[in-house]
Amino acid sequence: MAWYCSANSNEGLVNNLKTAKIFKSEGVEKAMKAVDRKNYVSQGPYNDTPQPLGFGATISAPHMHAYALQYLEPFLKPGMKVLDVGCGSGYLTACFSEMVGPEGKVIGIEHIKELVDMSRRNIQKDRPGYLESQRIILVHGDGRKGYPEESPYDCIHVGAAAEKEPHALIDQLKAPGRLFVPVGVKSQSIYQIDKDENGKVTRKELMGVMYVPLTDVDKQI
Ligand code: SAH
Repeated sequence: MAWYCSANSNEGLVNNLKTAKIFKSEGVEKAMKAVDRKNYVSQGPYNDTPQPLGFGATISAPHMHAYALQYLEPFLKPGMKVLDVGCGSGYLTACFSEMVGPEGKVIGIEHIKELVDMSRRNIQKDRPGYLESQRIILVHGDGRKGYPEESPYDCIHVGAAAEKEPHALIDQLKAPGRLFVPVGVKSQSIYQIDKDENGKVTRKELMGVMYVPLTDVDKQI
């Protein structure tokens, strides 16, 4: 199982995820090796488990980050634009930026102010210059509404479980574009929701998961 991928180093962890076939893309491997998890979580950065960030949030397990990068990979090509909803630690936001490169743009949106500040500090330490050059923009706000100011997006990642399919986010996808979103309350699954070049929307259930809810601030802390 995926949590057997734990290791003593970032490189070892990524190698284990690759051997376990959680991802296969070279671009994903390069991004995950470039962005060292120790800059985003203080305890057990190379354990393949979620870790608490405070404020009712967790950094997702490395295997979930790897799945997200792999499923979104066709929409993470150089120059593409990404929205990361519930960016938490900032880890995945930084990986997305590695993949879309300096010509691409990643917007991370998070509704807990302290976590926006945490992701800013983490990214500043790990990827100096990415915030100044605005290849990464961090926004404090309710991610359920997306971030229309920078839309449309080639892909949108949601790091918390929505109660229902989030229509505002589907509206903010390009055609073609892809949304990776956990949906459900007690029982949750990741859905890959694709908009094709004609604007037709299709969905595919990928796997059962357990994410923190996409919710209101006062319900989370
Ligand atoms: N991708 C992050 C996941 C963090 S956990 C990581 O791996 O570090 C989920 C995050 O979603 C939390 O930080 C939580 O504060 C945030 N969140 C929950 N509801 C939200 C909402 N309505 N708008 C924006 N962020 C939200």
